[in-house]
Amino acid sequence: MSLLSSRLSAIKPSPTLAVVQKTSELKKQGKHIISLGAGEPDFDTPDNIKTAAINAINKGFTKYTNVDGIIQLKEAIQSKFQRENNLYYELNEIIVSCGGKQVIYNLFMASLNEYDEVIIPSPYWVSYPDMVLLAGGIPVFIECGVKDNFKLTIEKLEQAITDNSKWLILNSPSNPTGATYSFEELKGIVNILYKYPNLNVMTDDIYEHIIFDSFKFYTLLEIARDLKNRIFTVNGVSKAYSMTGWRIGYGAGNSQLVKAMSMIQSQSTSNPSSISQMAAVEALNGPQDFIKYNAKIFEQKRDLGLKILNQIEGVSCYKPEGAFYLFPKCQDLFGKTTPSGKIIQNSNDLAEYFLEEGGVAVVPGIAFGLEGYFRISYATSFAEIEEGLNKIAVCCSKLTS
Ligand code: PLP
Repeated sequence: MSLLSSRLSAIKPSPTLAVVQKTSELKKQGKHIISLGAGEPDFDTPDNIKTAAINAINKGFTKYTNVDGIIQLKEAIQSKFQRENNLYYELNEIIVSCGGKQVIYNLFMASLNEYDEVIIPSPYWVSYPDMVLLAGGIPVFIECGVKDNFKLTIEKLEQAITDNSKWLILNSPSNPTGATYSFEELKGIVNILYKYPNLNVMTDDIYEHIIFDSFKFYTLLEIARDLKNRIFTVNGVSKAYSMTGWRIGYGAGNSQLVKAMSMIQSQSTSNPSSISQMAAVEALNGPQDFIKYNAKIFEQKRDLGLKILNQIEGVSCYKPEGAFYLFPKCQDLFGKTTPSGKIIQNSNDLAEYFLEEGGVAVVPGIAFGLEGYFRISYATSFAEIEEGLNKIAVCCSKLTS
């Protein structure tokens, strides 16, 4: 009898975390590796947030809390939704978990039954399909290539809807493409929701604040306030406040669903860290000006990355309006031969070649469900972006037909 659950047969480890692991192994061997793989901001958690956590420890705020988050944090989240999204949530419509990741996991565990389908536009954040599978649901992919600006079209969405469609996942700005949905595009999706009353939407707004140019962010519920029970909003402090390690995310929506999610959390992790919760209260209630400042820096990094990538023969890159990723097309490099005689067949081969030949870590597009691309994260220094992408350019120039 196998020691392992048959549930595991459907899922795989997070490929982005695998890149991080391989990079750190090579670094341990003394190799100079430039990591353009990680999905976290490179700036430090602001001091006022750190101080709030230190104060929490010093005051002995180190015990179990309410499973779904302390009232103070739920109130801070309630204010955030009012201040930034003009939305009102009751406290029992809000849950705090160990990262946005756990919110989404709880959501699918609490709501999916056998045969329930979850529509996932691809490319997608790596964890969505596996979470759906773990919860016993069926992921249904809609390919959204660069000619659709990596976004859902209403036609494709309507074609994918069946009687079993329970959720649609929206992620704007998106990981891995940085694509964003405008007010008008969201309106198109809302019209579909009115037409198909069994369909719900999970909107993952984790990159809400990392937006560029003149893009104006809207969350779906702002456009259809009467659909509060059918739109579940996920957000967190990881990306905007550079708090990836603190593990605080939150979700808001149907109170019955929130209650069920909280029950699941009570039987798995219990509350997120009490100290991190106090830090998150300060993050949401404290000064916010640095967020815009950081977005400006990310915008300059995006421009630098785009400029170098688009000069590489065989590579072309879409200009995103958010997040901190670039998702260049590299299909034209497939079929070419490396200096050691290996033929590049796919994005996995290409990522491996960049790592071994150039010492640059990127994530293959196939990890996000779309072959012919790779993802770079530019949440690193200007110097590293420049050096890493120039090394990629050299690697590409060494490929022969
Ligand atoms: N959603 C997306 C699209 C992400 O890229 C991530 C993290 O990379 C998350 C959710 C989860 O973030 P966290 O669990 O750190 O809040």
